[in-house]
Amino acid sequence: MRRRLAILTSGGDAPGMNAAIRAAVLVGSDLGFSVVGVRSGYQGLIDADFIDLGPDDVIDAIRRGGTLLGSARCPAFRTREGRDTARRRLADARLDSVVVIGGNGSLAGARALADPEELGRQALSVVGIPASIDNDIGHTRLAIGVDTAMNTIVEACDKIADTAAAHDRAFIVEVMGRECGYLAMATSIAAGADVVLFRESGKSTDTLVGEVTDALVELRSKGRRRAMIIKAEGVQVSADGLKSRVDGALASRGIAVETRVTVLGHIVRGGRPSATDRLIATRLGHAAVRALAAGQTRVMAAWSPGRLPAGARWSSADPRCALIDLDEVLAETARLLDVASPEAQWRAKVFDEMGPVLRL
Ligand code: ADP
Repeated sequence: MRRRLAILTSGGDAPGMNAAIRAAVLVGSDLGFSVVGVRSGYQGLIDADFIDLGPDDVIDAIRRGGTLLGSARCPAFRTREGRDTARRRLADARLDSVVVIGGNGSLAGARALADPEELGRQALSVVGIPASIDNDIGHTRLAIGVDTAMNTIVEACDKIADTAAAHDRAFIVEVMGRECGYLAMATSIAAGADVVLFRESGKSTDTLVGEVTDALVELRSKGRRRAMIIKAEGVQVSADGLKSRVDGALASRGIAVETRVTVLGHIVRGGRPSATDRLIATRLGHAAVRALAAGQTRVMAAWSPGRLPAGARWSSADPRCALIDLDEVLAETARLLDVASPEAQWRAKVFDEMGPVLRL
């Protein structure tokens, strides 16, 4: 009997999700699956909100930001009852395979959907694809959306740098990343910022205010008043709070520097996906559907992980993609987000050393 594949996007949207949907539709159709899209993430599973998807439906998808299937947060899916309803809907529609494209919460949902105890005798295979602009998912070098978000931030910082230079101002630019400061760290290098602030440094607000003030005073002593400070959203002090503390500290030292705040917010989530995001999303979509066809389940298709954890294997379809158990992915994700983890400390240390030499 023909196998049936469901594709959904869940959680925070990320540019490149459509490219992953497109690849899953094209590869699934080619491998003989009939393919449906699920609208609005796990809520659409519970509501049986399915639409048939064929190659003609995804013709322009690779170029489009956001997600053509819509995304949602679904509290009901966190409950056993909600997941049982979702599994019943899948069984009623004779859907035996699911691709979940989303962030770490969505991947936790994918693991729960395919939990062997909860499944009982139902035959259901689930493969996840990491999509999150924050790059906060373990065991994948990049998640879908990170590259586009970085390009958006760097472009915005270049524009801000022009006006900062024209008016000799210091700009505090806040970028998304509540739990993970990767976007702030990576873009501070790419944009040539003077200071970067991220939660993983574990520094107190007083220390951060002191570092920003010292940097501005030092630049001023060299005759420069324009500056760029990139701040991750997850840092405990708000951008406006930081500005007023820094303004106070500068005034008390008799230094005149005009500061301004720009919060980039949701702009960073949107827009046409970059070439790199299209490439990664397409290859992950391909590897994920091949893995389902080969009988794998409860794994995530990962992009170019450094070292494979025990039990993981490289995709037979793509030498840059690996298939990693979702338990292992979520454990590594928790380590990554834990400020005390070796990976988080390593990132902070690198920036302590690089920061002072990489200014504008
Ligand atoms: P993201 O995928 O971007 O991290 P969320 O954390 O909001 O976004 O997760 C998206 C959805 O995934 C949630 O609304 C919920 O339906 C589902 N989900 C998250 N965590 C779990 C979990 N532990 N068990 C089951 N479902 C979950």
